[in-house]
Amino acid sequence: MKPLSTLLGSIPPSATIAISDKAKALKAAGRDIISLAGGDPDFDTPAYITQAAFAAIQAGDTHYPPSSGAPAIRKAIAAKLAREYGLTVDPATQVLVSPGAKFLIYAILAALTNPGDEVIIFEPYWVSYEPMALLVGATPVTVPLPAATRFTITPEILEAHITDRTKVLLVNSPNNPTGRVLTPAEAEAIRQAAIAHDLYVMSDEMYEKLIFEGEHINLASLPGMAERTITINGHSKAYAMTGWRLGWAAGPKEVIHLAAKLQSQSVTSAASFTMAAGAAALNEPEDAIEAMRLSYKARRDAMVAALNAIPGVECDPPEGAFYLFVRFPGLSTDSMQIANILLEQADIACTPGVEFGRSGEGHVRFSIATAQSDLERAVERIRKLMSA
Ligand code: PMP
Ligand code: GLU
Repeated sequence: MKPLSTLLGSIPPSATIAISDKAKALKAAGRDIISLAGGDPDFDTPAYITQAAFAAIQAGDTHYPPSSGAPAIRKAIAAKLAREYGLTVDPATQVLVSPGAKFLIYAILAALTNPGDEVIIFEPYWVSYEPMALLVGATPVTVPLPAATRFTITPEILEAHITDRTKVLLVNSPNNPTGRVLTPAEAEAIRQAAIAHDLYVMSDEMYEKLIFEGEHINLASLPGMAERTITINGHSKAYAMTGWRLGWAAGPKEVIHLAAKLQSQSVTSAASFTMAAGAAALNEPEDAIEAMRLSYKARRDAMVAALNAIPGVECDPPEGAFYLFVRFPGLSTDSMQIANILLEQADIACTPGVEFGRSGEGHVRFSIATAQSDLERAVERIRKLMSA
């Protein structure tokens, strides 16, 4: 047979998805695995959101919707950005709704870059950024942020990696996997570098509603940034809607226009009744999502205290998202080895830090969007493992 795609052959499958799937398979085969691998809320989608989907289906909203998104959800997204950040976007031309934010990162990268354009990706980074840059033919430039500075972005680091070919800064706050939230100083460094070097900024704000300390900064709403920033967000995390596959982007209309063409020629659109539910989610008061945030915060506080109390385990409290980025100096500094020992000797599945880039080495990622009882059992198993 003739050889298949060299490009796809060279790209790894998503580690977060692969490990979550493996944990599910081991569980199904009867092993008592505690999965801290995937970032999937243990909460069900709030009832007012599922009701909106049922109502849409019953009303016959089961046909092809407009490719770039139903008007109601695009309006709800524009209203949210105006309400929360004073950012004005035209719902008809500056908003794109897609089946998941993941597809949007791919589509926006495709819209922004030509072969050879460099995309700066800060380590530790979410596992899919680098492969997606490669898939669209861009050149990912991964920039290791040191664990010793709690992965802080500085003007010096930016200047050291920006070249004539740099086109995009890909920023993620709150960060998956570190839980870091951008400080005003980091946001200002990004803003100044973007303007000075005429760069686009992709701001992945998926965990915007899950912040425990600090305040979310919407980069597009900073001075001089609206024309160069594409905000990427979605319903998966804040509204516990991972399975619905619903994400959105807002930004300059020329960029959205190109990404929308890719959408119309590939996946067509998000699902019609999913968008009806997504609009309801954005338009209603946030009590249900605030209750989930408080629950994650309580889990974070309990887990960080419990893990740090175990000799040989270290964990800084994350400021946002729902991951712990944990070190096991008492076990190993090799994250693959730590993850293997946890799986083989403690029946705990987690993601090795090196999957998030070199500067994630020495860490493993635990998702705390996991039932409290499982988190407690995991701590017990780690305590036993570390004392053995
Ligand atoms: N960005 C980040 C940082 C993520 O962790 C995820 C994972 N869900 C996504 C984007 C994509 O989310 P989804 O495709 O479920 O909307
Ligand atoms: N984003 C989540 C994670 O990092 C879900 C899986 C994925 O899309 O990668 O675990």
